[in-house]
Amino acid sequence: MKNNSLSRRKFLCKTSAIAAGAAAGTLAGHGCGSEKKMSAVDASNIRNYNPKKNGGCSVTFSYDVDMPCGGNTYLYDRQIPWLRGDDGHDAHGHLNDDVRNYIKNLATTAEDYNAKLQFFIQGNTFEKQADVALWKEIAQRGHAIDNHTYSHLAPLGQKSTQEIEQEITQTKKLIEKHLNTENIGVRTPWGYTNGLLQFDELSSVSSAQEVQQTILNSGIKWVSSRTSSSEGGQRVTDERSIEMIAERQPFYYDSGLLEIPFCIFQDREYFDSDCGGDPLRPLEEWIDYLKKAVDFAYENNLYLSVTVHPSTSFKHDPKGKYLKEIYSYCKKKPDIVLCTTRDIYRWV
Ligand SMILES: [Zn+2]
Repeated sequence: MKNNSLSRRKFLCKTSAIAAGAAAGTLAGHGCGSEKKMSAVDASNIRNYNPKKNGGCSVTFSYDVDMPCGGNTYLYDRQIPWLRGDDGHDAHGHLNDDVRNYIKNLATTAEDYNAKLQFFIQGNTFEKQADVALWKEIAQRGHAIDNHTYSHLAPLGQKSTQEIEQEITQTKKLIEKHLNTENIGVRTPWGYTNGLLQFDELSSVSSAQEVQQTILNSGIKWVSSRTSSSEGGQRVTDERSIEMIAERQPFYYDSGLLEIPFCIFQDREYFDSDCGGDPLRPLEEWIDYLKKAVDFAYENNLYLSVTVHPSTSFKHDPKGKYLKEIYSYCKKKPDIVLCTTRDIYRWV
């Protein structure tokens, strides 16, 4: 542990030159070897980071922006209903002011800790002007926004490669046109125990390998598809899900596509009954669980990438307390890097 901390401190000193400017008020001002309180380095300014080599760990909060639909109100049971898409697609991706404001508040929390959030949005969110304005603002504030298909297309093994390519490229074009950012990352709707190595369903229309190739053909270079909640068809315990962080590190498929897996339970899996969660679990337990995950990642020098949903967060934690608590927990250790999934792609 000590050695890791030291090497990490040295590493941060080296990278502080790269991070000059954005890191003002962080390490650069304190000088190497200083034991003064250090705030998080802006990860987007670190050229390379590998916790195994450099020590510490990285922590990512990545938000899948999708919604309940078709009369399901389990995620969000207040008066304002979700909207349905005109073309008969489910309402995935359409937000209302409560969730828009919540997303802005989460972004503000991250900025308070000199961190950026990762969002995965659906193309159909651009059907509404209010959503377009939201994502433009979030992108301008420096947060990372990538692809979650157009209509939350899932499961991918039961969709044709044409349909997958169409939804991904359409969304990629919309993100690039409206948000002035290159989109080369996709979070798959749903998520798969074996990622895109092999699908569980027997009656697959497209094989996992075909899906990988289709994603690459769509101009995408990294994907986040591998889940972390079950083994051998059984839901794992909280403790086991944390140990599995070590088995959910980024890797390349033979096709050349990079996988950045989900770590630990998603908030949906923790709280939402349709995903095996328990809506009555206290918020404090979730915060404790996240802290334990940070500890494990830190002790083992790992990338910790947490998948969360604004709609679920909003219901269970309308003030976004967990994000503040985890960021301030991380900030107690100078060698924890708060980053986006995009940063991980860049580093790996
Ligand atoms: Zn989703």
